[in-house]
Amino acid sequence: MHHRPKQRKKRDENKSNPKTIAVLTSGGDAPGMNAALRSVVRYGIGNRCQVFGIIRGYRGLLATNLSENTCQLLSLSSVANIIQRGGTILRTDRCEEFFYSKYRKLAAAFLRQRGMDGLIVIGGDGSFTGAHLLENETGFPTLGIPATIDNDIYGSEDSIGFDTAVNTAIDAIDRIRDTASSHERIFLVEVMGRSSGHIALKVGMGGGAETIIVPEVKESIQSICQTIQRGVARGKTGSIIVVAEGPKPGLSNRISTALARHGFVSRVCILGHIQRGGAPTAHDRTLASVLGAQAVKNLLLGRSNAMVGMQDNKVICSDFSKNLGRRKRLSHDEYALTKILAT
Ligand code: ADP
Repeated sequence: MHHRPKQRKKRDENKSNPKTIAVLTSGGDAPGMNAALRSVVRYGIGNRCQVFGIIRGYRGLLATNLSENTCQLLSLSSVANIIQRGGTILRTDRCEEFFYSKYRKLAAAFLRQRGMDGLIVIGGDGSFTGAHLLENETGFPTLGIPATIDNDIYGSEDSIGFDTAVNTAIDAIDRIRDTASSHERIFLVEVMGRSSGHIALKVGMGGGAETIIVPEVKESIQSICQTIQRGVARGKTGSIIVVAEGPKPGLSNRISTALARHGFVSRVCILGHIQRGGAPTAHDRTLASVLGAQAVKNLLLGRSNAMVGMQDNKVICSDFSKNLGRRKRLSHDEYALTKILAT
C-alpha cells in the first residue's frame, strides 16, 4: 500500500518529456478542431507541460516578423468556452512554402529557438504529410490528430468534423425532401468530397437517398434513370440523388443536364461551405476531447512521426509512414446496402 504513491510518481516523471508542446490547426477547418485544441491544452497543462498555440497553421512557423506573435502561450482559460465553437481559434491556412524542404527546416528552427519539444498538428492528410516530412528531415517530433470533414485519412475510421458535416447535410436533405415530394421533383444534392465519397455515402444512407454518386464507383446515367423510373412506378413522389462534388466543380449540374436529355427535369442544390461550419456534434466533441488528450499522452511517452486515430472503436497511435499516401476505401457493403434500401 505504502509503496504505491512512490511508484506512480516515478512513472509520471518518465512521461514528462517533452514538456513544451506546440499545437497548430492546418488545412481545411473542421468542426471540433477547437474541442481538440482545448483537450491538448488542458491535458497538457494537467501533465505539467507548457502548451503554445501556433497561429495560421504552418504559415505561423515561418513568420519572421516578431510583432506577428504566431507562437502564443496558452492557459487553461484561453481555451474556455470554445468546445462548442466551429472553426478554429488558432486560425488555419494553406502554406505553399511547406512543400519545400528549405522552409520545413526554417519551421523546425523556429520551434527549437522557442524551446518547443514537439508539435501537434490538427488537420488532414496534407497537413500530416507536412508533419511527416518535417520530422524525417529535421528530427523534430510531430504528432497528428485527424480533423477533416472528408474522413479520408487512412489509418483512422473516424475524423473530427465528419459527423458534424454529415449531420448538417442530412438536415438540409430533410428540408429539400419536403419540397421534392410536394412538387414531385428530382433533386441533386451536391456534398463535399473531392476525391472520396465518405460524406456522400453517410449522407445518402442517413438521408434515404435514391442514388448516391461517389468518385469510387462508376454509375451510368442510364442506371440513374432506371432507379428514378422504378421509384415513379411504385408511386414515389420525389427523388433525392446525393452527389459527391468530385475533382471538378459542378458535377451535379452536368448530371442534371444529362438527366434532362433523358426526359427527367431535376433541380440542383450545392451545399458547399455550410457543411464546414457550425457547432460540432456531441460525437465530434467527444472524439476531439479523447484524441487531443491521447496525442499529448503519446508525445509524452516518446511517440512521434505518428497520428492518433480510431480503429475498431479504440484509440490507436500509428506511424505516419504506415498510413500516408494510402487510400482509405469506401465501404462497398454500405454502398450496396443503400442501393437495396432505396428500392
Ligand atoms: P488537409 O491537411 O486538410 O489535407 P491540405 O492538403 O490543404 O489540407 O494541406 C494543408 C497544408 O499542409 C498545406 O497547405 C501545406 O502547407 C501542407 N502540406 C500538404 N501537403 C504537403 C506535402 N505533400 N508536403 C509538405 N507539406 C504539405
